[in-house]
Amino acid sequence: MSSNKNLLILPGDGIGPEVMGQVRRVIDWMDKRRAVTFDVSEDLVGGAAIDAHGTPLHDKTMDQAMNADAVLLGAVGGPKWDELPFEQKPERGLLRLRKEMQLYANLRPAIVFDALVEASTLKPEIVQGLDILIVRELTGGVYFGEPRGVEELPDGQRRGVNTQVYTTNEIRRVAAVAFELARKRGNKLTSLEKANVMESGVLWRQEVTKLHKESYADVDLEHMYADNGAMQLVRNPKQFDVMVTDNLFGDILSDEAAMLTGSLGMLPSASLGDIDETGRRKSLYEPVHGSAPDIAGQALANPLATLLSFAMSLRYTYDLAEDAELIEKAVQKVLADGKRTADIMSPGATRLSTGQMGDALLAELDAMAA
Ligand code: NAD
Repeated sequence: MSSNKNLLILPGDGIGPEVMGQVRRVIDWMDKRRAVTFDVSEDLVGGAAIDAHGTPLHDKTMDQAMNADAVLLGAVGGPKWDELPFEQKPERGLLRLRKEMQLYANLRPAIVFDALVEASTLKPEIVQGLDILIVRELTGGVYFGEPRGVEELPDGQRRGVNTQVYTTNEIRRVAAVAFELARKRGNKLTSLEKANVMESGVLWRQEVTKLHKESYADVDLEHMYADNGAMQLVRNPKQFDVMVTDNLFGDILSDEAAMLTGSLGMLPSASLGDIDETGRRKSLYEPVHGSAPDIAGQALANPLATLLSFAMSLRYTYDLAEDAELIEKAVQKVLADGKRTADIMSPGATRLSTGQMGDALLAELDAMAA
């Protein structure tokens, strides 16, 4: 039996606990069938933590997250906590995790599963077989830069200010993650900025080019202006493999890429930080979707985004690429067999509840591992 792997699960609110329940079943399956044992602990985040402790993330939970090999989060938020002041909202729990774990690289894969090609608003031939990965810088740039604020001008007008700011180190560390990922995939990296109009974009391009020469000359690197990237993503998204960009452009481009796939219930993500002295990279995995209060408690939630987020943790934290692939292939097969939760339902398919989707996935895993 291989050594234990430490995982902190934070199901959160709304459909979070429902989808996470299906991940727990896959973890049990891996223990029994793959001899991969996880040391799982579970705690509260978001509204659930507010109800229990009066804070969206207890210090004890933060400590656990800092010491875990990986954190797997469901979703936070819901109408019950909407009226709370900004600083006390469920989302603050998630923001605290990202900030204190210093998760500077946000990985957003956009994969179009063959069976769901019709879910995209783009023509099937444009998106069929799409498999790209956007790496977004997550802790710097215009969302955090100083000075910021709204000020009164002498003539009575008001002026809003935000500052785009990047240091060489911030650019290099996220670019290094992207180069490493490109090496494990199609060996192509597209770096996006606005070097034509922004000094921070010029610096971004220079630093990525320098790092490429120094350490990643074997990777095929191209530079592209972010606005052109936005167009290319809908014109011919399959030209890309890995894309790396700053916080603001990444926010927009990753959502655009997500919608190429057409289904929120299918989208995983990972956020990675630095490698510490023990060789462990801080990491948080979560589905892209929110807590979906409109369907919570009705067994309607699609658990696949969270299961695919767990698969990402197998690949990037636990070095279990084979097991990650097993889960991803099982997802593809289940979809190819016409099994669907309500959100991805199509004519002629079989509609499943959250738990039945878990059943179907486990049956497929059983068949594949037999
Ligand atoms: P949402 O992603 O929760 O839901 C948007 C729509 O997609 C809803 O109709 C929902 O039913 C559907 N949907 C989402 N995930 C689904 C799934 N797995 N299966 C089936 N259908 C699914 O976004 P929202 O409605 O804007 O936000 C609801 C709450 O979630 C808010 O409180 C918001 O702040 C929070 N939120 C949290 C996160 C997070 O935790 N990372 C992200 C986004 C929104």
